[in-house]
Amino acid sequence: MRLKSMFLHGFKSFARPTRLNFSEGITAIVGPNGGGKSNVVDAIRWVFGEQSMKQLRAEEKFDIIFAGSSSTPAGSFAYVELVFEHDGDTLSVARSLSSDGKNVYMLNGEPVRLKDIHERFAGTGVGKELYSIVGQGQIERITNAMPQEMRMLFEEAAGTSFYREKKREALVR
Ligand code: ATP
Ligand code: MG
Repeated sequence: MRLKSMFLHGFKSFARPTRLNFSEGITAIVGPNGGGKSNVVDAIRWVFGEQSMKQLRAEEKFDIIFAGSSSTPAGSFAYVELVFEHDGDTLSVARSLSSDGKNVYMLNGEPVRLKDIHERFAGTGVGKELYSIVGQGQIERITNAMPQEMRMLFEEAAGTSFYREKKREALVR
């Protein structure tokens, strides 16, 4: 699973429609302080349903919508799409939020539940709190992790976490 490109419109400082293409290998994003580098990572977490305002570096959920600047009025929605390449196929996952509160998740352009996105990506390591996004301080967290948490990371890497979740669902029914 490789992130090929992403498209942001109205998310945080990305007021205008912006496409970022990531070629194979390592991409480094450089720029001045406050230039929006971390906002790119926030956008990825957000698409995967991040609810934690602390993780998103926001006060409340509408704070991720472009708030306006001296030259550009505030936006009325935020939209982020991530395009992954997986086994030769392309997989698009997107989320939008409008200022009236309408929130939509999409897989390949079709509206889905957040749960469907999590299921589709289970076992790939891609998600908001897995190892595909390693935030500041997280290396330390992993090296100090309790066995339970360590196991969760191994299960995800081995691709078996999906079955654990299915088993849990079957048992509660
Ligand atoms: P650093 O090098 O300091 O880590 P950075 O490139 O990671 O900087 P970010 O933290 O991504 O920068 O961007 C912060 C900028 O995003 C701030 O200028 C902030 O005003 C802007 N910003 C955040 N949320 C919004 C929003 N909703 N609307 C407009 N601008 C926003
Ligand atoms: Mg930053």
